[in-house]
Amino acid sequence: MEHSAARYHRLQLALSVLALVLGAGWLLAMTLTAVARLVAELAMTVTDRLWWAVLVVSAATSIGHTVLTAPLTIARSYWLPRRYGLLHQRLAAWAFDRLKAAALGGLVGLIVIEVIYAVMARTPAWWIFAAAFVATVSLLGAVVFPVWIVPLFYTLTPLRDAALAERLEKLARRAGVPVLGVWLVDQSRKSRTLNAAVAGFGRTRRIILFDTLLERLGPDEVESVLAHELGHHAHHDMWRMVVIQTALGFATFWVADQLLRATAGPIGLRNLADPAGVPWFALVIGALGLVGIPLVNWHSRAVERRADDFALSVTGDAGAFISAMERLAEQNLAERHPPRWKETLLSSHPSVDRRIGRARRRVASAPRASESE
Ligand SMILES: [Zn+2]
Repeated sequence: MEHSAARYHRLQLALSVLALVLGAGWLLAMTLTAVARLVAELAMTVTDRLWWAVLVVSAATSIGHTVLTAPLTIARSYWLPRRYGLLHQRLAAWAFDRLKAAALGGLVGLIVIEVIYAVMARTPAWWIFAAAFVATVSLLGAVVFPVWIVPLFYTLTPLRDAALAERLEKLARRAGVPVLGVWLVDQSRKSRTLNAAVAGFGRTRRIILFDTLLERLGPDEVESVLAHELGHHAHHDMWRMVVIQTALGFATFWVADQLLRATAGPIGLRNLADPAGVPWFALVIGALGLVGIPLVNWHSRAVERRADDFALSVTGDAGAFISAMERLAEQNLAERHPPRWKETLLSSHPSVDRRIGRARRRVASAPRASESE
């Protein structure tokens, strides 16, 4: 098992790097071979409005990118997970999910880029507006995520298991946090993987559980997972992430402004808001986004460790936590002990072995006083 998990993750990494290189190559080629210029000129024969040229160049850029990387996307997210027994969705259903995600992502992406170019054409301080707008869109997305976006891909049902709901209530009371609604999504229709998350803000805030968790874990193990999610809620981790992402967004757009100003002339753009620069803009933002990933992951791993600690102290059941982790690793074909560099740069969670190790150490060092209560 361990062996095939390592191979699976090695292949996934290789395919991801390949897709990244290919995608960047496409953006660079569009910029340097003047294909982007040609598309922009063609668009402007219809009307010389900026929004129209930005739309046409963005569509050409993104369609070309999608087509070019399609074989790698299919290999990474369909063929490989199926081959390793993670996914059992049929090709048509899988493709329909991808299509919905692409339509949604494309629409939001288009709105964002149109707004950015409109501001870029008006003020040199465009990057401040761009960062603020992207932060607002992300926050709105997070608010509506559990109520509008998840239902596009899953059927959501409230947790009906009365015994489990009662345990959750007790858990929340013990933890001193308000009880969150728990909703199940029908992941079992698509895949065997296990997952859970706190999603939404304010009134949309809730815990989302894959139904596979209830199928594969015992009640004590599910309780550990719920306690971990309550930990995120108790620590206001969603808000922390919003603050970090927003700060990173401002830094990203400021650096992008500097880079775009320095490079616009040499690559033949007439001004910053020249629609022929859309692929170049995408490449710069994409590259800067990559640089930010290790930082976000470093924060995320710290947050996950704290949620694990929270779960362990609320349930007091390290055994259940550890066996839940074991199942998670097995069902998700997790890389239990990834190379250090990979975990540091790419992992949003500490590796399973590390999480189990931490739980064991906590048990070993915990005071035994509670046993006499
Ligand atoms: Zn977590």
